[in-house]
Amino acid sequence: MKIKKEDGQLNVPDQVDIPFIEGDGTGPDIWHAARLVFDKAVDKAYGSDRSIAWIEVLAGEKGFNTTGAWLPEETLDAIREHVVAIKGPLTTPVGKGIRSVNVAIRQKLDLFACVRPVSYIEPVPSPMKQPEKVDMVIFRENTEDLYAGIEWQAGSDDAEKVSRFLKEEMGADLPPGAGIGIKPISAANTKRLVASAIVHAIDNGLSSVTLMHKGNIMKFTEGAFRQWGYEVAAERFADKVITEADVYEKHDGHPPEGMVVIKDRIADMLFQQVLLRPDEFQVIATPNLNGDYLSDALAAQVGGLGMAPGANIGDICAVFEATHGTAPKYAGQDKVNPSSLILSGAMMFDFMGWKEAAEAIRRSLQITIKDGTVTYDLARQISNAREVKCSVFAERIVDNF
Ligand code: NAP
Repeated sequence: MKIKKEDGQLNVPDQVDIPFIEGDGTGPDIWHAARLVFDKAVDKAYGSDRSIAWIEVLAGEKGFNTTGAWLPEETLDAIREHVVAIKGPLTTPVGKGIRSVNVAIRQKLDLFACVRPVSYIEPVPSPMKQPEKVDMVIFRENTEDLYAGIEWQAGSDDAEKVSRFLKEEMGADLPPGAGIGIKPISAANTKRLVASAIVHAIDNGLSSVTLMHKGNIMKFTEGAFRQWGYEVAAERFADKVITEADVYEKHDGHPPEGMVVIKDRIADMLFQQVLLRPDEFQVIATPNLNGDYLSDALAAQVGGLGMAPGANIGDICAVFEATHGTAPKYAGQDKVNPSSLILSGAMMFDFMGWKEAAEAIRRSLQITIKDGTVTYDLARQISNAREVKCSVFAERIVDNF
């Protein structure tokens, strides 16, 4: 049966259909490992009361080889219809067809929030002295900013035309022959992104939401992001949030019990602060490009992309995904680390309200890694670790439920 979304609320049947995109390269290896963990986690948490019927939908190389389309319309329709889906990594075709299948999925389904939780799992090697202090969720705007793809190549007729317009109509003089990109940031898209970050903080009892921006320089885009972020906080969540300024001016630096503090930080400074004082940040809401950099930098602080889960969430539907690429040189070797996809599945279960299954997965993954049973990427960094294949790693997680 299908998940339904009614009046913004998810209605998840106990016997649920979920579409999956297996992914390219190492995608099939990590998908098979992850699926085993998902099914056993549901069985462990709910017995025969709940189950998943997995429905394969095509995209990437498998989509292209089977249907001639990198992203078939039926795949998008199936995801819209089923509300929740999960995917492995997809090859970005170089020089043909679509710019990026991943970006196309986000844009066509209007998945406006890229949500990336970053927290530490002991004893994964980390460059931080106290990696356990890193525990944040990044809400990255997914649909606009420099990623909107509005750009003109240096020296092209179109670039010259835009350059002429900017000079003659707007008084802006560009260097001759410059490439040009446009950075749109809108109130509506900013507000829905920041609102979803605030809802996440409220629902999960987290103490702060930080607006990350470079508004001191880019006043009308990143500066506006900051302003609209504070505006939506005041308009929609006045009884649940308080600004950092008010905490100091009215409450002597101590936020009232249960209130989410809304603060903002300039992007370059925030990169320092997440290294030096990571425990001061719980949820970070940010425009697209900042979010791209920050997500990977934070993932590195807790052991790299192989461990980082992610989701792209919109008003209509949500797609949970491994955050790394297809690692093609390891394709078919049953070798790579499936943790990113497995943890993305745990996020999916949280989203569906199947919290017990999500918790079982996180707990068991942690036990398995702590026990020293890991895939090659972690084995080469943890002394005395037992290196196992991707599928065996999944089996050990299941054994540890
Ligand atoms: P990549 O596939 O992420 O792989 C780069 C390196 O990261 C691998 O060689 C491996 O390092 C490590 N790695 C990645 N996944 C791992 C895993 N599950 N377990 C352990 N190690 C892992 O990046 P890429 O080579 O730049 O990209 C390959 C293709 O993936 C491209 O077509 C790209 O467009 C696409 N891509 C897709 C997505 C997505 O679907 N969301 C994201 C990024 C890239 P070692 O060699 O050191 O072992």
